[in-house]
Amino acid sequence: MPCDVCNSSRADVVVKPEIMSRAVRQGFNPFTLGLIPASLSKLATPDYPAKWSRQAMDGILSHSDWTICDTCLPKLTPYLKPRPWWRRYLA
Ligand SMILES: [Zn+2]
Repeated sequence: MPCDVCNSSRADVVVKPEIMSRAVRQGFNPFTLGLIPASLSKLATPDYPAKWSRQAMDGILSHSDWTICDTCLPKLTPYLKPRPWWRRYLA
């Protein structure tokens, strides 16, 4: 399952959209954290990170579960307050 943040194909952690929305509101930004691969961020327009944040908070991205990989998860965890709410798919 591809990671909804960085597009890596080895993602198996599910984060509820309302939890992700709160993380973004608390400052989670995959662009400044360097989670977006260069191949993807090169295609992004300068206003894309702000657009992404808005969509993640209450737009199109805020309606379904997020799948997160093991690279993005540790960077995201500090923003999952008050405690890290996520679950891993059982293989
Ligand atoms: Zn990822």
